[in-house]
Order: sequence, then structure tokens, then C-alpha cells
Amino acid sequence: MKVPPKIRHFIWRAAKDVLPTKQNLQARHIPVGVECDGCGDHTESIIHCLWLCDQARSVWMSLLEFRSLLQKKCRTFCDLLEEVFSVGPAKKVALFATVAWCIWQRRNRLRENQSTWKLHEIGDNAQRLVDEFWSVNSQESGEPIPRHRVRWSPPPEDCYKVNFDAAFCEDSGLAGIGVVCRDNSGQVIAALRQNLGQVQSVEMAEALAARRAVVFAREMSLFCIIVEGDCLAVIQALRRSGLCPLLFGHIVNETKRLGSVRRSCVFQHVRREGNRLAHSLAKKAVLSADFEVWVEDLPEDVDVGFQSDFP
Ligand SMILES: [Zn+2]
Repeated sequence: MKVPPKIRHFIWRAAKDVLPTKQNLQARHIPVGVECDGCGDHTESIIHCLWLCDQARSVWMSLLEFRSLLQKKCRTFCDLLEEVFSVGPAKKVALFATVAWCIWQRRNRLRENQSTWKLHEIGDNAQRLVDEFWSVNSQESGEPIPRHRVRWSPPPEDCYKVNFDAAFCEDSGLAGIGVVCRDNSGQVIAALRQNLGQVQSVEMAEALAARRAVVFAREMSLFCIIVEGDCLAVIQALRRSGLCPLLFGHIVNETKRLGSVRRSCVFQHVRREGNRLAHSLAKKAVLSADFEVWVEDLPEDVDVGFQSDFP
């Protein structure tokens, strides 16, 4: 399925019926009503929420390519997926997954009283997401990737990769950092961006980003980590034994100490092309609020960076 990993992951969870629908929450003895918030008169199962509910129907009805599918009797989301896969060309499958994901996002945002798309906007919005993703990835699908091209590579199983980067504005001295933790499948576990205010140099900002990466891994309870950045000076300093004599040495020493109490912590250099998501987070951090964290998600504005990082 040619969609961003977060949507693929969502579809996989929907198919396994492990999304926190009201029906599933109640099955786990969490005290919630089971009525769908959208229509108010059905149990909110995953197939109801994404397909059978009047609200979902109005979205699917607006998309010509799914009208015939609406006639089919699908009792579970898996039945529905089977129908989609059996009839659809790849792009239609991608659109289906993206629309379903948008409906679920909208449902979650409404529950959190956050602003979100209107129902009639979902179709166009999903179509735009699919077109963007396909155009970004189109060159790569046909041709083999040149061997010299550096890309993000996944960590070994049971290990997490924590990429960090700093962005530094020479004129103002303002810096921002970005950190992203991913698992062996490339799935984002958590990400953050943080505005550092003014720092002395780009190396100082990179050293602070590396320290934040290790602290973030501890906060996320990741025990085996590969901490990866594109600043060679900082990575070399982190890999060297003994105390670091450089200007940012105290930060490096503290980062090494924090790393040493993880079960396993390896510092590793990667070229910038393999560190794009962290870079994109850092760049935004220079201009954004003090501190933002995402768990199992990413801000919308760095999606393209994420895609190009993915193996
Ligand atoms: Zn409903």
C-alpha cells in the first residue's frame, strides 16, 4: 500500500481491530458509553466509525470511485479491506486508506475539542495527501536507488534509533533542535522540537541536541538506543573515551554519562541525507514555540521529511 507509514500503521490497527473505538474501550472495561458521537444511535465499532456511520457515508459518497463499494455488504473492516484490495488499482487503495485515516483523525480531534476538517473537506484533503505522497515518491518507485545515496536505516530489532539535529541561525545566534525516535519498522515512537534561544555555535547546538536525544530516550523508556546525528565533530567527541576537552565538552561528558546508564547506547554518524526528519524538526523549532512533543505521531508540516527518511 503506497501511503505514508503512519497511515499504513493505522490501517493495520483498524484491520486488527485494536483502535480505541468506544466498543473496544468498553470491552476493556473502560467506563464509556458505546454510542457513536457522529450519529448518536449506533455502537461505535471500527466498521461503523469508518464506513457505516452516516457521517462516514457522506464522505465516501462524495468520492465517485467508492460509490459502488457502498452497495457491498461489509460486516467487518477486514471484509471491506478485502473488497478494496480486490477491485482497486494501487492509487485507489491509497485513497481509501487515506480517507479512512482522515475520518479517524477527525473523530479523534472532535473528541479532544480541537479544530478539524469539515466532513465535506475530507475527500479533497485526502486526495491532495495522496497526490503529494505519490509525486514525492514517484521517482523512486521505478528506478533503483543509486548505491551511493544515503538514507535513514532502521535499527536492529528490539533497538530504537534516535536521530537528532540542530538548526542554527548565524545572524541571530538562535538555535532549534529536533529529535525523533523510531523503531525497527521505521515507525515513529516519539518526536520533539525545541527552541533553544541563543547559543554560541552550531557545534554547541548539536551537542545540546545530542544530550536532549538521550534524555528523550530515557523519558520514552527506550533501553537500547542508537543515537544518530550528522555533526561529525559532536559524534566523534561522543565516541571518544575520556573527558572531552572541547568548548562544548561538559555537555558531551554529561551525554556520555546519561547514555552509559541505558542498557545499550551507541553514538553513530550519518550523512545529512539520512537525517532529514530530525533536520526538518530542528529547522521548524528555530521559529516555533518553546517545546513540542508528539507521541506516535508527527506534526503535519514535517511529513515530507519523514517520507524521504524512510528506507
Ligand atoms: Zn455513527
